[in-house]
Amino acid sequence: MKNSIFNNLEIAFASKSNRDLSFSAFIFKLMGRPIIVKISTFAALLAVRFHLPITSLIKSTIFKQFCGGESQEDSEKVINALGQSNIKSILDYSVEGENKESHFEDTTQEILRVIALGKVNKNIPAACVKITGIGSFEILEMANSGEPLFKRNKIEFEAIKSRLNRLCMAAQENDVPIYIDAEESWIQNTIDSMVMDMMLKFNKKKAYVFNTLQLYRWDRLDLFKAWLSKTTSNKVLLGVKIVRGAYIEKENNRAKVNNYKSPIQPNKKATDQDYNSALAFALNNIEHIELCAGTHNEESSELLTQLMKDREIPKNHPHIYFSQLYGMSDQISFNLADLGYNVSKYVPYGPVKSTLPYLIRRAEENTSIAGQIGKELRLIQEEKKRRKQLP
Ligand SMILES: Cc1cc2nc3c(=O)[nH]c(=O)nc-3n(C[C@H](O)[C@H](O)[C@H](O)COP(=O)(O)OP(=O)(O)OC[C@H]3O[C@@H](n4cnc5c(N)ncnc54)[C@H](O)[C@@H]3O)c2cc1C
Repeated sequence: MKNSIFNNLEIAFASKSNRDLSFSAFIFKLMGRPIIVKISTFAALLAVRFHLPITSLIKSTIFKQFCGGESQEDSEKVINALGQSNIKSILDYSVEGENKESHFEDTTQEILRVIALGKVNKNIPAACVKITGIGSFEILEMANSGEPLFKRNKIEFEAIKSRLNRLCMAAQENDVPIYIDAEESWIQNTIDSMVMDMMLKFNKKKAYVFNTLQLYRWDRLDLFKAWLSKTTSNKVLLGVKIVRGAYIEKENNRAKVNNYKSPIQPNKKATDQDYNSALAFALNNIEHIELCAGTHNEESSELLTQLMKDREIPKNHPHIYFSQLYGMSDQISFNLADLGYNVSKYVPYGPVKSTLPYLIRRAEENTSIAGQIGKELRLIQEEKKRRKQLP
């Protein structure tokens, strides 16, 4: 981008040593090769399945690039380093793919600990949760499809709602909001309805509960407007994280196989248009909405700064956060924070083995976000070159 506020690479990589830059360049180079990503994904899954000692290799490579650590304590170094550049951390307990009630309860406890930590650590402004981390995907899918639940399923469904309620209540009591992720469309109605109930209950003075809108869906802009009518008529604040959406291939494939109209926009341009319209809609109603713009897209991030300027909204308005994932798009996060905007990074953490699905998604993003990895690599190489030319 010409004359972009994100072009200042000195600020973007100020916290990175030459060694850190070379390490990140190495990781992004590997990830830029689909064949290497395919082989290593397969090898990693196999190794975990057969308990081969591969953990330390993953930990010292891709895990180091994209995760804060194996525990909250282990992530402290990353949280402090980001904090020094005025970037807040949203600790994301990334343990996926487990399907036991005891696991859902453990995850709930873990997130309650993040909320408690947020109460005493100013670098942690919010917590986050994936509903499928605290409840069974199958139960959510059944509830979403409208089919009647058997008694045992009903009990499990009520347990999910009760865990979510505990998290939202803790968010309010500790003054640490909670962001709820958006997931696959065939469980999302259920999530939306559960989260709206929580917003109506807890968002009276401030948005303690945030839902997520995926603008790669063609029906979400209308839904955003419907949510706002509902929250304002109930005199509560609407907390919303706005993203494009992470499950595009899965969504399109399922729609094709089952012969229904895909919920995904016809093309990237339509997604971009709706994303940017959602930002404008949020800002036009900023007294009723608390917003987190979760994106690595420079145009959208810069547009949001412009929309704020046009409306004379201060850079550090408490209702507006920009957010990126740890290990990615530092040129956006560090430059915005340097200019005085509110910025956070999602910092995933958890045992190396359990974060594999998250890490594989990051690696595979190569195929779904054209050019993102190439862009990360190019920026790092430019910064290395700039440093070499310094007197
Ligand atoms: C802080 C944060 C939180 C997030 N939380 C969530 C979450 O809760 N749920 C979730 O699903 N994702 C989440 N994401 C991921 C996010 O949805 C995107 O996958 C990712 O950020 C890439 O989109 P982008 O806005 O950075 O921009 P870009 O890189 O400009 O856009 C890429 C995105 O555009 C869309 N797209 C690409 N091609 C097409 C096409 N042909 N037609 C239509 N759309 C297309 C896809 O959504 C793709 O991911 C989060 C991301 C961040 C940074």
